[in-house]
Amino acid sequence: MRYYNTNNPTQFATLEQAVMQGRASDGGLFMPEHIPQLPQAFINNMSMMTLQEISYAVANFALQGAVDSEKLKEIIDDTLSFDIPLVQVDDNRFSLELYHGPTMSSKDVGARFMGRLLSYFATKHGQEVTVLVATTGNSGGAVANGCYNRPGVRVVVLYPQDGLDNLQEAQFTTLDGNVTAIEVNGSLEDCRNMIMEAFADEDLKNSISLTSARSVNIARLLPQMFYYFYAVAQLQRQGRELDRLVISLPCGNLGNLTAGVMAKRMGLPLKRFIAADNANDVFTRYLRTGKFEPRGMVQTLAKAIDVGNPRNFPRILDLFGGSYEAITREVTGVSMSDSEIHDAMRLLWRDRRYLADPHGALALEALRRLLHPGETGVALATAHPAKYIDAVEDALEQSIPVPNAMLQYLRGTRNVVSMNSGYASLRRFLLSGK
Ligand SMILES: *Cc1c(COP(=O)(O)O)cnc(C)c1O
Repeated sequence: MRYYNTNNPTQFATLEQAVMQGRASDGGLFMPEHIPQLPQAFINNMSMMTLQEISYAVANFALQGAVDSEKLKEIIDDTLSFDIPLVQVDDNRFSLELYHGPTMSSKDVGARFMGRLLSYFATKHGQEVTVLVATTGNSGGAVANGCYNRPGVRVVVLYPQDGLDNLQEAQFTTLDGNVTAIEVNGSLEDCRNMIMEAFADEDLKNSISLTSARSVNIARLLPQMFYYFYAVAQLQRQGRELDRLVISLPCGNLGNLTAGVMAKRMGLPLKRFIAADNANDVFTRYLRTGKFEPRGMVQTLAKAIDVGNPRNFPRILDLFGGSYEAITREVTGVSMSDSEIHDAMRLLWRDRRYLADPHGALALEALRRLLHPGETGVALATAHPAKYIDAVEDALEQSIPVPNAMLQYLRGTRNVVSMNSGYASLRRFLLSGK
């Protein structure tokens, strides 16, 4: 299987090149040259299989030999060391809880898979790869933990001095070993610029091998398909009709939507998708108007999807052959204000006794509004409610428990390098070999 560059479809990379580079040198994204369709018998038998078994079968099929199958099995078993339960919320709405991993967001799945795949490719050649990531939220913690103690992988997380909550920060500042947290005296934009300069520094790249851990890395995208298959398997077990399944997701960089559409192309019976935006409605505006117009982001309660320029948009376009009509036949959008998200959390708790974080509540509320009679809806619950405890407690007007695993991070020893913004100090640090 080869991966083409969305900017230049006649240019191809192997899986290893695509994963190690993150994105193409001209900024394009890698996409599989074709999407193989799974045999119907596999889909019919999924109800008998575990999450790991399903994921291994899907990965083996999708990757077509790019990773040795024994090794792939080990990577999958190790990545999916937690459950992804499908919880019924009412007659026709289900919540796929993607937040039972170590950093309690859906990003654990992609980040853990990427960490293991990077380690596999790096150690195969006796190399070390440095993962650079700038963060204000879930991705830093997920990537740091996903790569933690992986042989051949070093992680450098850059984050702005102000604006992170304690828990988000503790998830990557209390690790040690191969993870370094760098607190930058500047903004997220400054952190991103420092990383961009590192990627443009040919001289540096002669000394160390760098990769981007952004959501555009195909290694984070591929495993996001697994949980759609597992959701369908869980519905099969309950004897639900599978011909009218609708997926609803909180949409940020469109990674989950891309993976969902790819899962459907592999043969998973998904009827359609609902993309739910917060006030950052660049994608849902596109669905309404046909115009894709990135702009600056605004802060909302569903912080993880405060995105003004959804990065995977070129992948969505490619999956539908560039046709706006084709996209809108399968994807419907809705955008909600903070007060609508707040009310959604409150009503889910009041009427269904279901505790949802702002992102999950947004997706569930989108189903309530847009599901047609006879359809079954699955909403992606992408973060643990305790990760957004202020917004949740405010909506519920009561306190909620914080899981021990989360408190564990807060009790850890903080281990941070402070740095002025500007590329020179980052360069010095990267070359120091720490
Ligand atoms: C990253 C993230 C998302 C969505 O990202 P996509 O790129 O659109 O898939 C949604 N919710 C949470 C909590 C996240 O961390």
